[in-house]
Amino acid sequence: MIANYGYEDGSGFYYITIDTDVCVECVEHGCMKACPGSVLAIEMDDYDDLVATVAENARKRLRELCSLCKGQNGSGGTARRLPCTDACPGGALRHSW
Ligand code: SF4
Ligand code: SF4
Repeated sequence: MIANYGYEDGSGFYYITIDTDVCVECVEHGCMKACPGSVLAIEMDDYDDLVATVAENARKRLRELCSLCKGQNGSGGTARRLPCTDACPGGALRHSW
C-alpha cells in the first residue's frame, strides 16, 4: 500500500509517502532510528505487519520537523540526501518537497 502523510499550506506541499509493501520485508527499521525529529514511527498495520508511518503528532508539522535535515526552507529539494531515505534499504520513503 502507498500511504501519504502530510499537508499543504500557503508555502507548499509537504508529504511523506511510504510504500508499506516494502516495509513488510524490512527487519532493521533503520528509518525510525535515523530520524532526529521523531517524525517516523513503526506501527502494526491492519494485517499485523510492522510498517513505517509518520507519527500522528508530526503529520501537520513536517516542514518544521524535517528542517533538522533539510534546512529551514527545505532547501535542496527532493534530491537532497536525508537520514531517513539513506537508511531505508528498499527505497520505500519519498518526500514531496
Ligand atoms: S527502513 Fe524503509 S522499508 Fe524499513 S521500515 Fe523504514 S521505510 Fe520501511
Ligand atoms: S527528513 Fe529528517 S526529520 Fe524528516 S523524516 Fe527524514 S530523517 Fe526524519
